[in-house]
Amino acid sequence: MARVFLGLGSNLGDGVANLNHALQLLREFVGDVQAVSDFVTSDPWGYASEHRFTNAVCAVETELQPMQLLDMTQQIERQMGRTHKHAPGESYTDRIIDIDILTYADVRMQNERLTLPHPLIEQRDFVKYPMQDCIKKLSE
Ligand code: AMP
Repeated sequence: MARVFLGLGSNLGDGVANLNHALQLLREFVGDVQAVSDFVTSDPWGYASEHRFTNAVCAVETELQPMQLLDMTQQIERQMGRTHKHAPGESYTDRIIDIDILTYADVRMQNERLTLPHPLIEQRDFVKYPMQDCIKKLSE
């Protein structure tokens, strides 16, 4: 079993409902969701859009290995109607749901599909502060 922190974001449709739907699918296909941060709203990061994001961070206990977890989070993104993955070097776009693996226990790894821990945690307030909130909720 490994504890993972996942970053969730949505800026199309009902962001709160989309995050709650993603949490339900994570419970079903990834593992026990132990804590969820408060939801926050943020401006699009790295590109311009009139649609603001709803973001949250959750802690999940999973039996999936890191690459299996990435496959599953990407499958959930597709199941929720996300059709386009952002590729390196390409600009970001609006999205129904985005699920980032922030940390996987204390694993450090890098391959062409997965970098752990996620390299942009510290630079993104909409990840950093919800992650602190989620860690606080875990200890309550
Ligand atoms: P996205 O930001 O969801 O559009 O994902 C862009 C790409 O980042 C995907 O193709 C993933 O393979 C890659 N990626 C690398 N590291 C991670 C990570 N820690 N969590 C999620 N996706 C990652």
